[in-house]
Amino acid sequence: MKNDFPILIAEDNAVSRKLMEMNLRQAGYEVVSTVNGREAFNVFKRRFFPIILTDWGMPEMDGLELCRAIRENPTEGYVYIFLITGRDSKKDIIVGLEAGADDYLTKPFDRSELKARLKTALRILKLEKSLKEAYEKIRILSITDKLTGCYNRTYMDEYLSKEITRATRYRRPISLVMTDIDHFKRINDSYGHQAGDLILKNFVGWIKESLRNDVDWVARYGGEEFLIVLPETGFESAMSSAERLRKTVAGSVTSYEEKDIRITASFGVVGFKPSAENGTFPHESIVGEADKSLYRAKNEGRNRVRGKIFSV
Ligand code: GH3
Ligand code: MG
Ligand code: MG
Ligand code: MG
Repeated sequence: MKNDFPILIAEDNAVSRKLMEMNLRQAGYEVVSTVNGREAFNVFKRRFFPIILTDWGMPEMDGLELCRAIRENPTEGYVYIFLITGRDSKKDIIVGLEAGADDYLTKPFDRSELKARLKTALRILKLEKSLKEAYEKIRILSITDKLTGCYNRTYMDEYLSKEITRATRYRRPISLVMTDIDHFKRINDSYGHQAGDLILKNFVGWIKESLRNDVDWVARYGGEEFLIVLPETGFESAMSSAERLRKTVAGSVTSYEEKDIRITASFGVVGFKPSAENGTFPHESIVGEADKSLYRAKNEGRNRVRGKIFSV
């Protein structure tokens, strides 16, 4: 079985190269070989390798230059570089490490030494991998609403302004739909908070099903209020989406402890049409417009969609 850490080799000597390839493949590594630093760097630019074994003296681009080139730009993960060299004076080793190598092996290298040193590399790379995974879990938790699984306010605040800025820059339409469950307090009062929680989860489920592509997204704005973001969507299209969703919500049932509970929701739509003269402005003003339309929908009897075009 191949391990998750492929190795890139740069070595101009065909015999050494084949020997290394063979040893590493036997040890379970996926190996890609190149004949000098230049070729290795070109391969690396197209595909990330966490481990590089590079010879020192090579035509076109030598091992030191390859080390420096790799270290110069940020990479998607840590690259553990072995410099393989016939030189083993203290001075040479220091030069190699300063160029960015993590370790060095002297030629002719010993198979068991190579394996042992690779183990050290793997310890570090695996540690990095588990830290990254832990970080990713925390990142997802930090932007997710715990009850409903949709995005939370933190995510909304960060990404909405990015979406608006993008729409403004490229003069693309974007629409927002603010929705709020009608008389939700009564639902909680009549059926209990657990029923209310279940309805909130279902509500988000219906919203998510109504999104047409993976650029649309929904965030919990607060309590039982959600903001749906529809990039690349004009006002009319957003109005019909909201109307379809309103019908779905009104026509759906949540079963809780043998009771069938029905809800309705109100919707406030704002279609934003950036014009050529627009500068950037806070996304709060557009959300505010969606909010105003939502209040109109509430005031005019709930279970309805109201909206307006917002242009500056
Ligand atoms: P309106 O039609 O005007 O929106 O009336 P409403 O009763 O829905 O509005 P109001 O804002 O007065 O009440 C919102 C309720 O939502 C109050 C609060 O208890 C409930 N709520 C907020 N978050 C949660 C939650 O996570 N779970 C449950 N079960 N209820 C929640
Ligand atoms: Mg060489
Ligand atoms: Mg409400
Ligand atoms: Mg509310």
